[in-house]
Amino acid sequence: MSDHYVKVKVQLEQMKSRCEDADKEGEDADEHLPVSSPPSSVSPHPSSITVAGEDACNTSITSKHRGRGHTKQGRDDRIPCGKHISDVSLHGTVSAHAGKNLNGLVHERALHVRATGKILQGKSETNGNYVTIHASKNIQDARQEDGFKLARKRRPVTVDISKAKTSLEALKLSIKQLKWKEFPLGRRAACDIYWHGVSFHDNENIVSGQVNKFPGMIEMLRKINLSRAVRTMQELFPEEYNFYPRSWILPEEYQQFSTQIRMVRENDATVNPTFIVKPDGGSQGDGIYLIRDPSDLKLMTGSQAKQAVVQEYIQKPLLIDKLKFDIRLYVLIKSLEPLEIYIAKEGLTRFCTEPYQEPSQKNLSHVFMHLTNYSLNVHSGNFVHSDSQSTGSKRTLSSVLYRLAAKGVDIKKVWSDIIALVIKTVIAVVPELKVYYQADIPPGKPGPTCFQILGFDILLMKNLKPVLLEVNSNPSMRIEHEKEVAPGVFEYVPSPVDEEVKVGVIRDTLRLMDPGHKKPSISQPRAGGSEHRDEIPMEAGTRERSPDEGGLPSLCLKQVYPKYTKQFNFLRLVERIAALFIRFLGVKGNMRLGPTAFRTFIRTCKLSNSNFTMASVDILYIDITRRWLGTVPDSREAGMGLQAFVEAFFFLAGRRFKSLVLREQVVSLLELCEAQLESQSGGEDRRSVSCSRALPRAVNSQTLGLANPQLGSPAPLRRAASQDYRMHQKLKPRTLRANLEN
Ligand code: ADP
Repeated sequence: MSDHYVKVKVQLEQMKSRCEDADKEGEDADEHLPVSSPPSSVSPHPSSITVAGEDACNTSITSKHRGRGHTKQGRDDRIPCGKHISDVSLHGTVSAHAGKNLNGLVHERALHVRATGKILQGKSETNGNYVTIHASKNIQDARQEDGFKLARKRRPVTVDISKAKTSLEALKLSIKQLKWKEFPLGRRAACDIYWHGVSFHDNENIVSGQVNKFPGMIEMLRKINLSRAVRTMQELFPEEYNFYPRSWILPEEYQQFSTQIRMVRENDATVNPTFIVKPDGGSQGDGIYLIRDPSDLKLMTGSQAKQAVVQEYIQKPLLIDKLKFDIRLYVLIKSLEPLEIYIAKEGLTRFCTEPYQEPSQKNLSHVFMHLTNYSLNVHSGNFVHSDSQSTGSKRTLSSVLYRLAAKGVDIKKVWSDIIALVIKTVIAVVPELKVYYQADIPPGKPGPTCFQILGFDILLMKNLKPVLLEVNSNPSMRIEHEKEVAPGVFEYVPSPVDEEVKVGVIRDTLRLMDPGHKKPSISQPRAGGSEHRDEIPMEAGTRERSPDEGGLPSLCLKQVYPKYTKQFNFLRLVERIAALFIRFLGVKGNMRLGPTAFRTFIRTCKLSNSNFTMASVDILYIDITRRWLGTVPDSREAGMGLQAFVEAFFFLAGRRFKSLVLREQVVSLLELCEAQLESQSGGEDRRSVSCSRALPRAVNSQTLGLANPQLGSPAPLRRAASQDYRMHQKLKPRTLRANLEN
C-alpha cells in the first residue's frame, strides 16, 4: 500500500470519528451533502424578472507587501547553461565523442585512451584521438563510483527569479529544497529556467532555456476567449462539454441573451434563474454581480461598453458547514507539442463566509454568501485564518475530499470527473495557443520552450458534478495571507496551508522541467486496457523519483495527458483545423490569414467547384472576417483569426457533407484536406506550403513546428487519429460520459 493511501486511510478514520462526534453534537453536514439529488443540468431554465443586484465587488484592499531579502548573485555564472553532465554515459564505457561536448567538470573526469594506448585519467585532452574502451571491472567500479560522485556534483540548475513577483517566496523555498541556484537579479549568461510572475513577455530577451509562461495564455484564458473556445467544443461535442455554465458574451450577444431568457420564461413560468455577470478582464471577484433579468445588466454604450460574460448562476452548489466553497486546482501544461498535462494531487478550497441561501432578490448582493474569492472574503469579519488544513476559510482539497468520503461520497468518481474536465478544457484552448506560440517563437527563430501552471476554479454542484468557473493564467502563488493587524492596516503573515500546497506545486513543476533529466518515463495507456476503464485512478501517472532526488517527496503532480490519450484524443479536432490554419498563415509572426492565403487554402485542398466558385470563397472570407472584426480584443493585424477560420471551416464542412452531424462533417472535411495536402506535397518538405517559413528550431519535439503531427505524420497515423474519433463514438467510456450527464 502506498504512503499516500495509508495517509488517506488514517485521515479517513480520523474524519469518520470526527464526523461521528459532530453528528452526535447535532451539527449539520448531512443535510448539505448530496442525498441522491436529482440530476440537474448546467444549462439554464430561465424565467421571472426582478431588479438589478448591486455591484458585488467594490471592496478596496489596503495592503503592505512584506518583502524579503534577495540573495546575492552566485559565482558560477561563467559556466554555460546549455550542457549537462547527465548527457554523459557513466556506465563503464567511454564515448569517443565525450570530450568534444562537455564542460570542464566532465573533462576532468573523463577516462580516455590515446592512440598510444596509454591510459589517461583525470586530464582534459582537447585535441587527442580518443577511442572508446571497455574498462576492466576495477576500472568500471571506479568509474561508477566516479559517476555517482559526478551525479551528486551535477551543476545546479539555474533559475532566473528576477521577474517572479508574488510567487517569489514559494519559488525561493522550492529552489532551496532542490538545491538549485537562484539568480534574484537575473544573469548575463543564459539560465536554464526563467520564472515570470505575469506573462511570457515579462522578459523579452530570452533565446534559450525554458520560461514558465506560454505566449497568449493570458489572452486565451480571459473570460470571453475561454467561453468562445469552450463554446466551439460544445458545438462539436455537446455532451462532453456540459461542465461549463451556459454563457453569453456582452455586449454583442445581449439580444440573444434577453430573447432566450424571455422564451424560456414564457415556456415555464416557475423557472427562476439567476445570472452572474463577470467583466472580461476581471479577477478576484472584481466587478462581478448577480442579476435575475437581462434588463438589470449594467450595460454601457459606445466606447464605454464593457466586455463581459453573463453566465448561468449555479444555484445549488455543494455546501460544507452550510457554506459555499470552490476548488482551486493547479494544472501544469508541460508542453503543447506533444501535449503534456499534469494535475496537482493537492489543491485548495476557498470558503464563503456567510451561510449560503439560494439566490433571492434580497440576497443577490451578498458577496460573502455567493462569491468564494479569498480576496473578498478575507475582509469579512467571519473569515477564519487557520493553521490547520481542514478547518478555516481556506482548506486543502484533500481535507475536503476526506470529509466527503467519510460521508459516503464516491470521491474517486468526483476526482475522475475533475480530471476529465481539466483535460477537455485544455484541449479547448490548445489550438489558439499554438497560433500564439508560432507567432511569438516562429520556427527558425531562437527562443525558449514554455511550460505553465494554471489555476482551475471548479465548483461542485450539490449532485457532485464539477463545473468549471474559470481558468487563471496567473494563479496566486503567495504563501502568505493578509491579516488586519490594526484597524484598516493589513500585513502579510505566513499561511501554512498555502505554503504546503503551493511550494509543492512549484517545486515539482521545476523537477519535471529539470533540463538535466532525461524525459520522465511516461506511463502510456495500456493497449486495450485503461483507455476504456470506468474511472481514472487517483494515483495514476506519477513518475518515478530520479536518483538525485533522493531526499524529496514523491511528485505531487500526476500526469493525465498523454496518459489518457485514448479517452480524449478524439476531441482534438479543432487542433487539426488550427494545423491547417498555421500552415497557410505564411509570414512569420502572423496570427491572421489574409484573403490570398485563404484562397490558397481553398485551392490547395480543392474545396471550390462550379457550385462554390472562388467568388463565393471571397464573399465567405469577407463576410466572416467582418463579423469577427472588433469581437476579438487582441487584433494585432487585420485578417481572419483562428476562431473565424474555424467558423469558415464548419461552414465549408456543412456545405460539403450535408447529411452528417457537425462533428462528422468536420472530421470528413479534415480528412479530405489532409489527404489533399499529403498527395500534393508528396516527399517534399511539407513546410514549404507555408511560404517563407524557415525550418523549425531544432530544439526539441516540444517546439511547435509547422509539421503538425496530423499533417506531418505518415498517412496511417493520421487515419488512426480519425479512427480514434470513430471508435470513440462506439466505445465511449461509460463513466466519462455518464458522469457528466447530470
Ligand atoms: P474572478 O476571476 O473575478 O474570480 P470567477 O469567474 O472566478 O471570477 O468568479 C468569482 C466567484 O463567483 C467564483 O469564485 C464563484 O464563487 C462565483 N461564481 C462564478 N461563476 C459562477 C457561476 N456560474 N455559478 C455560481 N457561482 C459562480
